[in-house]
Parts: sequence; structure tokens; C-alpha cells
Amino acid sequence: MEPDRPLPQPITPESKPYWDGMKEGKLMLPKCQDCGQVHFYPRVFCPHCHSSNLTWVEGSGKGTLYSFQIMYRPFNRAVKIPTPYVLAMVQLEEGPRMLANMINIEPDPQAIKCDMPVEMVFVQITDDVTMPAFQPAV
Ligand SMILES: [Zn+2]
Repeated sequence: MEPDRPLPQPITPESKPYWDGMKEGKLMLPKCQDCGQVHFYPRVFCPHCHSSNLTWVEGSGKGTLYSFQIMYRPFNRAVKIPTPYVLAMVQLEEGPRMLANMINIEPDPQAIKCDMPVEMVFVQITDDVTMPAFQPAV
């Protein structure tokens, strides 16, 4: 089956633990061993203190909805996700914010509230790629 959205290409050494975690249903987040802060997206240095002394920790996948957008038209023609769908900026418990689709909710501004608790779900797109989404926390 053809994927309904563009896939990450290529998966870089800096992001491989993140994508490997996705396949196992785990949210792996980079953590700085010098300042102790967790960040997202994965990169070669800490955005807080510029240290390259990084490790990986498993995140809870829990957070709160920081902001959202209801997409009535895909922002890119390669995205085949049926509209309308919800794009969410989530404040993770561990500190960083993360952008992902929000599923299992009506794409209606009356149903979606900022600060609502959300949790991560893992959406397998292909054998190699699993992507995160969020849904209202149960
Ligand atoms: Zn740091």
C-alpha cells in the first residue's frame, strides 16, 4: 500500500534511535548529559547548551495540547491524509514540544481544547517507518 504522506528520507545517524524506537512503540528522546535537558527534534548538539554529550531516554508519550491547527487542505500535495485532520503541537512531560497529527478526535474547534491531556499513539506507515500521533488521554 502506498504511504499516505512523505516519509523521512534519509534517516540520519542522529535520528536513527528515534525512528528505531518508533518501530518498537517507544518515544526515544535525546537528553543532554551536561545540562540535563531533553530536546526534540534529534540533532548532533544540545540546543540549550551546545554540548554534544547526548544520550537517549524513553519518554512517557504524555503531554498537553499546546496549540493545534485543523487542516482543511493538505499543506503539500504528497500528503494524502483525508481532510480535515488535526495538526497538534504538544507540550511533552519531559520538556520539549513536538508536532504531530492528532487522531481519535473530531476535527472541530469545539472538541479540541488547548491544555487538554494527550498521549502518543504509534502509527505504522510502512514496514520501516512508524510515525507518532497524539490522541486525547484516556
Ligand atoms: Zn545541554
